Amino acid sequence: MGTLGNPKNTIEILNKYSFAFQKKFGQNFLIDNHVLGKIVRAADITEDDFVLEIGPGIGTLTQYLCESAREVLAIEIDKKLIPILQETLADYDNVSILNEDILKVDIASLVKEYNNNKPVKVVANLPYYITTPIIMDLFEKHVPLSGVTIMIQKEVADRIKAGPGSKEYGALSLAVQYYAKPYIAANVPPNCFMPRPKIGSAVINLTPHQTPPFNVENESLLFSLIRASFNQRRKTLVNGIYNYEGLHFSKEDIIGVLDAMGIPNNIRGEALSLEQFVGISNHLLKYF
Ligand code: SAM
Repeated sequence: MGTLGNPKNTIEILNKYSFAFQKKFGQNFLIDNHVLGKIVRAADITEDDFVLEIGPGIGTLTQYLCESAREVLAIEIDKKLIPILQETLADYDNVSILNEDILKVDIASLVKEYNNNKPVKVVANLPYYITTPIIMDLFEKHVPLSGVTIMIQKEVADRIKAGPGSKEYGALSLAVQYYAKPYIAANVPPNCFMPRPKIGSAVINLTPHQTPPFNVENESLLFSLIRASFNQRRKTLVNGIYNYEGLHFSKEDIIGVLDAMGIPNNIRGEALSLEQFVGISNHLLKYF
């Protein structure tokens, strides 16, 4: 498969271009072919797939993607990496490289332009300083997606996957699970990267729901309620919602909704399932 997934070849190309790692861009390049194979298998890429790669680095994962996908679009913020990518990807005619900031480009328009608005697979070893905004952007901006397979901090992967009652459960778990089904495909130790990150990583696969799992009448109210409930973890749900700036429900209305749903008044957000949050949101809508 690729040629770069080992320390020797990675160091060789970095030295050739006198490349200096930029900490501010979260640059930890993969140097383990075994892990690269796992990412590609978890993404289940076929020759029909269009893949969007965020942060190709020196093209280590990109080479694998080019060999399995129909087409690859790789978006890299660091302009110093562009000439390197031109060299390492020179043998592939199914890849486009854009020198852009993923948080500033309009991903939905790129999907329109490059893939006729048909669903794309996102595959990436993400820069960890912006993991959450990237994931939420993909879902909230309704980018047509057929799968998302990303390397992220292990701690964030555990939070995404968590269910009610566990200490990792929170707004991120609910937000992601509203859009997709998470599955942790691999845990990856720091020695698989250059330079080594301080923390453990995980490959997580998010399969977007074909249809929303619940009927939500007002998504923005649902997300405000979720944020309100986890804003101050120790507060009860009633106080969390009542005190949240931007929401103006009376305590009686909130308690009335909980009573109608048979939920105890002293419950905390961390004990509620996504389905219960949706129920509360749909019931509270009449007081909104
Ligand atoms: N894919 C490569 C690999 O696996 O070896 C590199 C992964 S490295 C963890 C993250 C990459 O994302 C770096 O190449 C970094 O320059 C790039 N990056 C960081 N911030 C970015 C942004 N806002 N938009 C696009 N790329 C970004």
